[in-house]
Parts: sequence; structure tokens; C-alpha cells
Amino acid sequence: MLIDLHTHSNASDGTDSPSELVAKARLRGLGVIALTDHDTIHGWNEAKSELERVEQKSDPLQLVLGAEVSCQNSDGISIHILALLFDGENKPLVAEMNKTRENRLTRMEKIIARLNGAGIEISMSEVHAQRQGEATLGRPHLADALIAKGYFQSRDEVFAALLHNRSKYYVSHYSPSPELAIRLIKEAGGVAVIAHPLASHRGRVIPLPSLDQMVNAGLDGIEVDHRDHSQEERVTLKNFARERNLIITGSSDYHGDGKLNQLAEFTTHPEQWEALRARANKDRVVRV
Ligand code: AMP
Ligand code: ZN
Ligand code: FE
Ligand code: FE
Repeated sequence: MLIDLHTHSNASDGTDSPSELVAKARLRGLGVIALTDHDTIHGWNEAKSELERVEQKSDPLQLVLGAEVSCQNSDGISIHILALLFDGENKPLVAEMNKTRENRLTRMEKIIARLNGAGIEISMSEVHAQRQGEATLGRPHLADALIAKGYFQSRDEVFAALLHNRSKYYVSHYSPSPELAIRLIKEAGGVAVIAHPLASHRGRVIPLPSLDQMVNAGLDGIEVDHRDHSQEERVTLKNFARERNLIITGSSDYHGDGKLNQLAEFTTHPEQWEALRARANKDRVVRV
């Protein structure tokens, strides 16, 4: 059974709609797919409707509703926490994500001002034109706007040249500490898994011992198998997880056409998934 616990739709910076994403997962024969858009649950209803629309006879796809919560530690290092199986009606967690989403708007204006200052012509309305409705605004939308104007060919190119975390044009946005995010996720009945903790090509990563603070806050698992981790990093993380009785996951971080990542290119072992699922306060897996 193929279990992919980290994917994005155009409710954030993926390029497939939530229903296209679910349809693709079904076509590829996945057993479980989690929708984990950045800081939003806006894609949940559409994904759920698509799952319920089709009656599958054998091995039906199961849907896990979640989000990837943007966090920042006290050293300013960006950390992503996957929130799975939480109650979408939970006010504090949703309010915290809304706060981040709101702040992403002014943050984008600041990045644009820096680019304009360097002679790169791009406007907020051109960036808004690249996102679907109220999708969580991110650098990929800015990248798409620059591509639409002919400055670049791909998101990868724009990130390498202008938008990476160490770039002089980079501006961060408000985000909760990982410990706060984990506490809110647990209080909302869900499970918390740190995404790609050692993905160093994106920017600074946390020193491994600082993960223990998150474990103390209730962290349930670590995303180990991810394309941004080397073999060595996976071994390190696996050992760390085993020593602390944490769940080990693997996932694609699929973004549609926005990235090379393919659905289920990395997956989570069924036993690990069962153990993770058991840590939520309720069975919220969506089945047909
Ligand atoms: P933001 O949420 O605005 O900080 O942007 C971060 C997002 O940009 C990540 O979630 C990735 O999906 C995307 N991203 C980062 N690096 C790249 C890259 N090299 N190519 C395409 N997308 C990227
Ligand atoms: Zn993304
Ligand atoms: Fe991420
Ligand atoms: Fe992601």
C-alpha cells in the first residue's frame, strides 16, 4: 500500500486543484494521500468531494486532511510542521494559520519592493494573478509571475537566482514557534510531524538536538524519506527517531508541475502510518 503523507494543491503553491490531486492519487493506485497545503485547510472540502464522488471497488483511496504549518524558531530558522488528522473546526489552530496567511501578504509586498529596487519590474497584482482565489500566497506565485513576464523558465530557476532563503531579496513572514504549532495541533486532536528537517539546500536547518524541544512539546514523527535528504541524513534522522520512539514517515511533497517531486516518490511504511494514526484523538481518515 502506497502512503504519501505530504502533498500540495493550488489552495497553496501546488498547481493541481484539490480534486485533480485526489484523482491523480487514485489513478496512480495510492492507498493513502494527505493534503497538506501551507497554512490552510481551504482545499479540504473539494478534496473530500472528489474522494466521495467516485465509488472504488478494490483498494479504495483514503484521504487524510492536513496542513503544513510554517514555523520559525528563535534563531530565525524556518521549520515546517505537518499537521494531520486534526479537527478543522478547532479555532486556535486555524486562527494561528490565518495570522500567518495574512502576514504573507505584506511580506510579499516587501519582497516585491526589494526586487523593484533592483530594477526587476513586477507588481503585487501580477503576483495575485498567479494564485487561485484565496490560496496561501508564497514565493512560488511570485516565481510564476516572473516566468509569465519572460524573466525565467521555471520556478527552480527563479529560486536559484532570486528567491532562495539566503537571497538579499528574501523577507520572512510571521510564523509561530514550532513548539506553539505542535501544542495547537495536539490540542486540535491531530498529530504533528516535522517536515524535511535537514533539507539544507533551502537555507539554514536546525541543529538536531533542538528537535528535543519539539519532542517535549508533543512531536509525533519525523519526515525522514524526502528527496531533499541525503542517504546519510536519513540514517541520522532514523536513528534519532528510533531512540525517541517517534514515527518515521516518507513522502513526496508533491506540488504538481511546480516541482519535480512525483506523487509517492517516497512513502510511509504501513506500520508507521498505523502508529501515527493511532495518536490522533479520533479517526478522521476520509474513506468512501
Ligand atoms: P514560502 O512559503 O513563500 O516561504 O515559499 C516556500 C515554498 O517555495 C516551498 O514550500 C516550496 O514549495 C517552494 N520552493 C522552494 N524552493 C523551490 C525551488 N527551488 N523550486 C520550486 N519551488 C521551491
Ligand atoms: Zn510549497
Ligand atoms: Fe515544506
Ligand atoms: Fe511541502
